[in-house]
Formats: sequence, structure tokens, C-alpha cells
Amino acid sequence: MVGSGETGFIECGADVPICISALHPLTPSSLLAKGGGGIAASEYARHRPSTGVSDTAWAKLTAMAQFEISTDYLKQVLEDLINTPSPTGDTDWAVRFVQNELETMEVKSHQTVKGALVAHFDGLKDSTPRALTAHVDTLGAVVSEIKANGRLKLSALNGVCWPTVESEGVTIRTQSERQVRGSVVLTNGAVHVNKEAGTTARNADTLEVRIDEETSSSEETRLLGIEVGDYVYFDPRFESHNSGYIRSRFLDDKACVACVLAAFKALHETGITPVQRTDVLFSVHEEVGHGGNDGLPTDISELVVLDMAVIGEGRAGSEQRCSICIKDSSGPYSRALTDRLRSLASTAGIDLKPDVYPYYGSDGSAYWRQGGQAQVALIGPGVDTSHGYERTHIDALVDTAALIAEYLVSD
Ligand SMILES: [Zn+2]
Repeated sequence: MVGSGETGFIECGADVPICISALHPLTPSSLLAKGGGGIAASEYARHRPSTGVSDTAWAKLTAMAQFEISTDYLKQVLEDLINTPSPTGDTDWAVRFVQNELETMEVKSHQTVKGALVAHFDGLKDSTPRALTAHVDTLGAVVSEIKANGRLKLSALNGVCWPTVESEGVTIRTQSERQVRGSVVLTNGAVHVNKEAGTTARNADTLEVRIDEETSSSEETRLLGIEVGDYVYFDPRFESHNSGYIRSRFLDDKACVACVLAAFKALHETGITPVQRTDVLFSVHEEVGHGGNDGLPTDISELVVLDMAVIGEGRAGSEQRCSICIKDSSGPYSRALTDRLRSLASTAGIDLKPDVYPYYGSDGSAYWRQGGQAQVALIGPGVDTSHGYERTHIDALVDTAALIAEYLVSD
């Protein structure tokens, strides 16, 4: 976990309190690397006091001195991103949002032909180029039919869990850029009329969108500008609490996108640049299984996938922790890269949870299936009731962001 130097002294396990401000001379422009505008983690090692600091204490201290993950920024960028709709297939608003954030940190990026965003760092070295990926596309639906009564039948774009969207507010985006409000309800859903209302299975055939406008026929609905194929956004209902819990739809995977941005911000503000040439793919087709290799260089040696960690019976992860996936439905991730991330976490004092995900695939799996040849590992914050009304905790997000930053500056 990262800490702040503002408190002046910290206990670091070396039996003597060390003034963190002693490290400040390491951060200014005197250590700027040529061309890169930053310093590598290895530079810090040269400034270690000769006595009184154990290896572990020094490692923790340098980690803490290098990065301060801003929880305020992390939460705000997450909320803003989550309130920017981006179901698979309709992700341009969210891509522009991320691109704008990157620009504020002077990070170069470009949009791929397929619609994803790729950010680029030159790095201090080019010997083993790296990549990260997190996805901005979320669950969502399109109008599949305008019913005779004016209501809408939906078709899921991806892995929508239908019972979890009943009673949810929605916005229908029309071709003429109108946004029409409505909600997802059970067909013939009044319990005073339909004895089966409580027991009927909830799916695309039994749920429909009730539009909050005057319409009782397909013609009237079409006069509102609504047509088959229009995208339908489920309300995310984002809430952040003083307890640290964050409850919202689409934490998968916008929580990880926010962690990546928070890690970049921490590096940017400290003037540290990634060690290796690094590309970062904000993919837009993860939820349909083919986002992983969009626009990444062919010569990368490592790909670290950032995606939500599962929580549930028998799983090791939690909402308060970052997990690392040893294997999922697509098979094992790369042993060497996984072990290195576990070691980095251990050194930085991050309680990273190794886990196995029973029903899961990632953009890492997609990357390999599309011919990618780099080592791949998968980390992410624990997200409860995934693909439903999800919840995580700020501690898991900060740990994830800190581990991303540690990885970027590690040799
Ligand atoms: Zn995901």
C-alpha cells in the first residue's frame, strides 16, 4: 500500500523512524532520465542510507515514497467514467473520456480502427516491451422489437444477467441523438393481475422496457424516434460511502480503468516514467470476447490484464483486496509473470490474493487466441455480485493502482 510523506515520520520496521522527506532530493529534475522525463525505481537504490535500514524496510519506504495513489481522484474518475455509458458497440463517449484524462497527464494515445484506445509510453528501455489492458465496454442491450403495445423487447449485447436488471431505469439513445427514459419491468407484471408475477423466470422474453412517454402503440413509439437497434443503457446507480465501499453497476471493468488512470497520475506527479516501452490498451470488445489484441504492438514480452476479481463461495478474493488469477476457464496464466507480480506486491506490502476463477475469461485469453505471444498475467480488485449490482472497496482499488505503478517502474 502506498502512503503519504505528509506525516513526516513513519515506522518502517527498522527500529528507527525515518523521515520520508529525506527522500525528496531523489524526486526533482536532477534525476530526470534523458528523453523520458522521469526516474526509474532502480535510481532510488543508489540513495539508500548505508546503515540502519533493513532490506524490507527500504523496499517499503521507497515504494511509499515513489507513489501516492489519490483516493479522491480514483473515486471521482471512477464515478465520472461509470456515468458515461459504454455498452459494447457504443463506447466512443467513454473512449473520449479516457483520452481526455490521459491528455491531462501528457500521455500520448490513439484510437484504433476498431474503436479501442491505446496509450503509449516510450519508457527508459526497449529490451522487453510491455503492455497493460483494461476494458471500458460494459454490459448493455439494444432494442430488438417494438411491441404492438409500444413497449420494447431487448436483446442483450453480452452477458446481461436478466433478473438483476428488473426495475432498473434505462436510457434509450435514438438515431437522432434523443435520450428517452424508461424502465425494465415484467411483462403483465402487476401482482394484482398476474398470479405468476413473483415466480415467472426473468429473461429477454419476459422483461420489457416501459417508456416514460405517451405511447401505447408501435407507431407512437416510433414517433418518439425509437427504432429497432437503438442502444439501451442501464442506470449504473453509483454510490460511494465513507466506509470505503463503492456500489455500482459496471465496476467490471471501469474500476480497473480508474486504477490504471490513478497509477498513471501517481507516476506523472512524481515525475517517474515506466522502465520499459509500454502500451496500454483500453479495449472495447472484452465483454464479447475479442478485445484483447486490438492495436497492441506485436513485439511485447508481457501483457498484464486488469480485470475484476471474482468473489464467491470457495474463492480467495475479497472486496478489500486485489487478486491475481492463476487460472480461469481458458487455462493458466503465465507462471513467470504471475510470480513476478506476486513478488512485487509482497515487497510493496500489498496483500495480493492468488485465486482460481471457475467461470471466467479475459482479454488475456482473447489475446492468446488471437495469436499474441507475450507472457500474460491477470490482476484486479475483488468485485462482489459481478455482472449484477456490483460492489467493491476503495482499499482494493488503491492496492490495484499501486501494484500497476510498481510494475511499470520495476526492472
Ligand atoms: Zn471485465
